[in-house]
Amino acid sequence: MKALQYRTIGAAPELETVPDPEPGPGQVLLKVSAAGVCHSDIAVMSWPEKDFPYPLPLTLGHEGAGTIEAMGEGVTGFAVGDSVAVYGPWGCGACPPCAGGRENYCLRAGELGIFPPGLGSPGAIAEYMIVDDARHLEPLNGLDPVQTVPLTDAGLTPYHAIKRSLPKLVPGSTAVVIGTGGLGHVAIQLLRALCPAQVIAMDVTEDKLELARSVGAHEAVLSDAAAADKVRELTGGLGATAVFDFVGAAPTTATAAGCVAMEGDITIVGIAGASVPVGFGLLPFEVSVTAPYWGSRGELHEVLDLARAGAVEVHVETFPMEDAPLAYERLHSGKINGRAVILP
Ligand code: NAD
Ligand code: ZN
Ligand code: ZN
Repeated sequence: MKALQYRTIGAAPELETVPDPEPGPGQVLLKVSAAGVCHSDIAVMSWPEKDFPYPLPLTLGHEGAGTIEAMGEGVTGFAVGDSVAVYGPWGCGACPPCAGGRENYCLRAGELGIFPPGLGSPGAIAEYMIVDDARHLEPLNGLDPVQTVPLTDAGLTPYHAIKRSLPKLVPGSTAVVIGTGGLGHVAIQLLRALCPAQVIAMDVTEDKLELARSVGAHEAVLSDAAAADKVRELTGGLGATAVFDFVGAAPTTATAAGCVAMEGDITIVGIAGASVPVGFGLLPFEVSVTAPYWGSRGELHEVLDLARAGAVEVHVETFPMEDAPLAYERLHSGKINGRAVILP
């Protein structure tokens, strides 16, 4: 089968022909219908060899959807032909967070060598993929796989981040979304669906800001040195109740710190590695700063229910398998508006 692989540190991903995988006991083989392209892969492919945590070659793609082609011994509850999405942050299934469906925070994944598909295990940008356990399958029940596949990360990650701050996002509050790309443009829709807050979006180009407005941002402003002041102005001086930073670089964490309200939340989702200094007098009183990772199985179920209710619609740009390297190139240069999805 064809698969998009990261093979050489520092090189671009390459289309390769690899052996068709076969499901072992408890595993499920999917014929991939659609696979999303996440900016985290760009970060992964920039890591130096000495810190690289995954075996190479690595088949990319941690957002996957497909139809069940075959099931290994002992798999129950599904049938060949079922259309499913893949829950990506695989855990052991048995430790306390996993038992609660929060496999993104598995306590034993490292020790047991469990990796998410596309982030250590063979991923979804391939004609077929192995899912390690049927509990990591979420039935699509009528949802379109191409439109839905980004929700497994670009939907689930912001959903988990936003849910933490929902009790604060009361009428009169404001949420700021920095970086309105794959995750950010879904975050805007989730905020509009889940709370009455004013939503202010920030990005660096007018086409991204236009997408932000079209998916429901009340305001969309350029992300520059004046952006924090602009939020103060738009909130009558109060600042933002919750800031979701989908970039995580020094200029954006500075904006987050500069516009957050007293008792507000700063959530850093982007993995560019910048920090927010926390300490008395460094931020408005009682601000919380957090950096979450992906989301739980239950939350993925909830996100797909929101999609079924029509509350979120991903802006998708599709690429045939042979153009998968081009999708990464375009994402790298900031040219994808919404989410790139590969059709293997
Ligand atoms: P993306 O490229 O689709 O979107 C990023 C957006 O940020 C783009 O629209 C870009 O124009 C914008 N941007 C860049 N610099 C900016 C700036 N200075 N100010 C405002 N906007 C700016 O990327 P994505 O796939 O949506 O991922 C977003 C980030 O989230 C990445 O860092 C990714 O690695 C990370 N991520 C984290 C998790 C997690 O669990 N924490 C999960 C998925 C992705
Ligand atoms: Zn991702
Ligand atoms: Zn676990």
